[in-house]
Amino acid sequence: MQLYTKYPLKIHNSLGGKKEEFKPIKEGYVGMYVCGPTVYSNVHLGNCRTFMSFDMMFRYFKHLGYKVRYVRNITDVGHLENDSDDGEDKIAKKAKLEQIEPMEVVQRYTVDFHNIIEKFNILPPSIEPTATGHIVEQIEIIKQIIEKGFAYVTNGSVYFDVQKFNEKYEYGKLSGRRLEDMMANTRELTAQSEKRNPHDFALWKKAGDQHIMRWPSPWGDGFPGWHIECTVMSTKYLGKTFDIHGGGMDLKFPHHECEIAQAEAGYGKAPVNYWIHTNMLTLNGKKMSKSIGNNVFPHEIFSGANELLSKAYAPAVVRFFMMQAHYSSILDLSDDALQASEKGYYRLMDAMSALEKLETGPESDFDVQVWRQNCYDAMSDDFNTPILIAHLFDAVKHINQIKEGNETITVSDLIVLTNTIEAFVFDVLGIAHASQSKEDSNDLDGVLNLLIKLRNEARENKDFETSDKIRDELISLGIQLKDGKDGTTFSLK
Ligand SMILES: [Zn+2]
Repeated sequence: MQLYTKYPLKIHNSLGGKKEEFKPIKEGYVGMYVCGPTVYSNVHLGNCRTFMSFDMMFRYFKHLGYKVRYVRNITDVGHLENDSDDGEDKIAKKAKLEQIEPMEVVQRYTVDFHNIIEKFNILPPSIEPTATGHIVEQIEIIKQIIEKGFAYVTNGSVYFDVQKFNEKYEYGKLSGRRLEDMMANTRELTAQSEKRNPHDFALWKKAGDQHIMRWPSPWGDGFPGWHIECTVMSTKYLGKTFDIHGGGMDLKFPHHECEIAQAEAGYGKAPVNYWIHTNMLTLNGKKMSKSIGNNVFPHEIFSGANELLSKAYAPAVVRFFMMQAHYSSILDLSDDALQASEKGYYRLMDAMSALEKLETGPESDFDVQVWRQNCYDAMSDDFNTPILIAHLFDAVKHINQIKEGNETITVSDLIVLTNTIEAFVFDVLGIAHASQSKEDSNDLDGVLNLLIKLRNEARENKDFETSDKIRDELISLGIQLKDGKDGTTFSLK
């Protein structure tokens, strides 16, 4: 029997706003789509929290025995500066600013994104499709939406007709808005506007002469709107109706609302059974914002190079900190909170390291079966990680008592305790073991010191070709050697 039959899961569905028992379309299988990053700048910590939350869900589904197809896209075209369809494409703007190819921007920040989320122990999704890789499919569904009468062409651009859609379906059901109210609160369209209604949104935008990112289409050269890519990439890989769609709360409107509208208009059915939205991360009680200096990048947390932090924190500590809050609550990051999490993290790791050496006895003072059930109950209740962690610390207390000789545990209970706590901490919460990160860096230190030694020997032998080669190859791996009067040191970029 799979664990998922034993521990049925409840999920808070943003569509309808209620907790519902999770029933996948196909028994034993889960299809999940999460809106990925727009790769035009370094990934934010808030985004990391979002991807970490869905990673935890992905891991828990797998732990329960489901086969999961997890699709998380990369937005590499079409995401405009503002939501009103008249801003610049974020990637094209950055490319212009830095005078490089848009695809260079995409490459640079996709690599950064992957580096950072790997540090956070976020597993790669099953499929990571890009918007530019699915232009053909996007054109195809836009044609269908036009054919069905829910979109119109103006001057080489295509717009979704929200009012027409609302006559047959319901626009606003996810975000709880009514089109009539929205219309009453908006300004009239200007005479130059290409839209029939201010709430219409672009499916396809005409590319001006200067626009570099462009593709031919039945409506002329242009590029897709932002919302259409997710409709295409989710349904292509998961089916016209799939189990779960997730994203940050800020995407609920208009992005996800538009996704529902596009799929219903194009395919005639609701695309998603369960919508999950994660909440935001604040910093010292305020919204994170670069312009007011209230911002921390992930790499600054790992190095401690930010005046809002007193020290560096390991990625596993940050992940543990994030898991201590429910994904749907606002989480406030501060130096104090990270310090507290760091203490908790090491207390947990110490207890887990002690498990191996625990002495067993004829009976248990700790009801491991009840405790295990409590852990599953917490996760089954809409992935309640803070409650799970509270139960894990309940176990920590008992482990320490057993270690001190104040309590005893039987052999079989110790096995269950060890397996369960390791599964929840490492596999489900995705928290890396403290020794692991330390060992990794020790290994790297050893290898680098060996390379430095070889390079110095080559230089002594005047074999500069080899010594330069070692230096250059290391630079290409992001490792900089520095020759000083006390010898050669290295730094990681
Ligand atoms: Zn999306």
